[in-house]
Amino acid sequence: MKKISILGSTGSIGRQSLEVLENLSNTHQVVALTAFSNIDLLEEQVRKFRPNLAVLWDENDALELEKRVCNICKVDFGINGMKYAAALSEVDLVLNSVVGNAGLLPTIAALEVGKPIAIANKEVLVTAGEIIMPLARSKNVEILPVDSEHSAIFQCLSGHVQLPDKIYLTASGGPFRGKTKPEMVDIAVEQALSHPNWSMGQKISIDSATMMNKGLEVIEARWLFNLAPKQIHVLVHPQSIVHSMVEFVDGQVLAQLGAPDMRLAIQHAITYPNRLPNPFKRLNFVEHNTLTFNQPDTENFPCLALAYRALEAGGHYPTVLNAANEAAVDAFLNRKIGFLDIPAIIDRALSAYNDENKQLSIESILMAESWAKTFAARHFKGA
Ligand code: NDP
Ligand code: MG
Repeated sequence: MKKISILGSTGSIGRQSLEVLENLSNTHQVVALTAFSNIDLLEEQVRKFRPNLAVLWDENDALELEKRVCNICKVDFGINGMKYAAALSEVDLVLNSVVGNAGLLPTIAALEVGKPIAIANKEVLVTAGEIIMPLARSKNVEILPVDSEHSAIFQCLSGHVQLPDKIYLTASGGPFRGKTKPEMVDIAVEQALSHPNWSMGQKISIDSATMMNKGLEVIEARWLFNLAPKQIHVLVHPQSIVHSMVEFVDGQVLAQLGAPDMRLAIQHAITYPNRLPNPFKRLNFVEHNTLTFNQPDTENFPCLALAYRALEAGGHYPTVLNAANEAAVDAFLNRKIGFLDIPAIIDRALSAYNDENKQLSIESILMAESWAKTFAARHFKGA
C-alpha cells in the first residue's frame, strides 16, 4: 500500500485527488487529511477514508472535529498540525493541494524528512523554488508536478537525458480571452469565476481570468525544470487539449494531450512511475478536431508580463509578485477593488520593493511576503 497525506483535501484539487484515490483503493491508502476551516467536509472525508490524522487551522474547529471523529483518527491544528501531517513517518507521498503560500512550511517539513511531494500548490514553487528544488535533490526525493502543464512537460521529458531547448506552456486564455482593457473595467466577481474549460478553486479561477495563473506557471516551470526565463514560452490554446510541449535542440517537438480533466494529472503524480487504469472520460479527437495556438495578449492582460519581470529580477521579486497578487485577488473577491486593479497593484508593489538582500531564506521569503501584503492592503483604497 502506498500511503498518502493530502494537504488541502477539501479544495478542488483535494476533492479530485480523493476521487482518484477511491479508484486506487487496492494499492493506495489515505493516512492524513488537512483543511483550513471546512469542518463538515473534512468530517465526511474522514468517515469515508479513515485516515490516521486530520488537521484544521483553528484550534476550536479542531476540538469540534475531534468530538465528531475521535473514534476514527487523531485531530491536530495550525501550522504545526500541517507540518506533522506532511512529515508523518508512515507517509510515502505528500500531495500538497493547499492554495497560496500557506503550503510553504509543510512542504519544507516533508522534504526535510525525505518525503516525495506531488505538488499542485504553485505559489510555493513561485516563492521558494530556489530553496525547495536543491533541498529535494539533497534529500534525493522527487517533486512531482500536478499542475497539468507541468505534468505534461514532465511526461514529455521522461526518458530524455538532455534538457529541452524550449518549452511551450499552453493557456486557455480564461473567460475574457479577446477582450480589451476598457471592456474589462466593470467585470463582476461572478464573471471572473466562470472559467470556460476547468472547474477550480476561487483563487486560481481569478488568476486564470487575469492570466496571472500562466505567469505563476512560468516561474513554477523555471524551478521544476531548471530553465532560463527565455526558454519558457506561452501559447494561448483555448481548447485545453494540448497540455504543454517541449522542443529539443534538433527541432523535434513532443506534446502531451488529454481531456481537460485534472484527475489525469493528479493520478499521474500519485502513481508515478507506474500508470494505472481509471474510468475517466477519454479524449475524442473527432469531438476536438480543431486545435489552435496564438501569442498571449500581454497588453490587455499585463499579469503575464509582470511575472516574467519578477522572474528576471529574481531574489524576492517573485515572492512580492505572488503575495501582492494573493492580496489583490482576495480584495477583488471581497469586492474591495476592481478587476483591472489587480495588475495595477502588483505592478506598484514590484516597483516599490527594494530587494537589498538577494540571498533567499525561508525567513526572508516570509518577510518579503508580509511586506507585499501590507503594501497591497495600503493601496486598495487608492486603487
Ligand atoms: P481551493 O481553494 O479549492 O482549495 C484550497 C485547499 O487549501 C482547501 O482544502 C482549503 O481548506 C485549504 N486552505 C486554504 N487556505 C489555507 C491556509 N491558509 N492554510 C491551510 N489550508 C488552507 O484551491 P484549488 O484546489 O483550486 O487549488 C489548490 C492549489 O492547486 C493552488 O495552488 C492552485 O493554483 C493549484 N492548482 C489548482 C488547479 C485546479 O484545477 N483547481 C489546477 C492546477 C493547479 P478549506 O476548504 O477548509 O478552506
Ligand atoms: Mg495549470
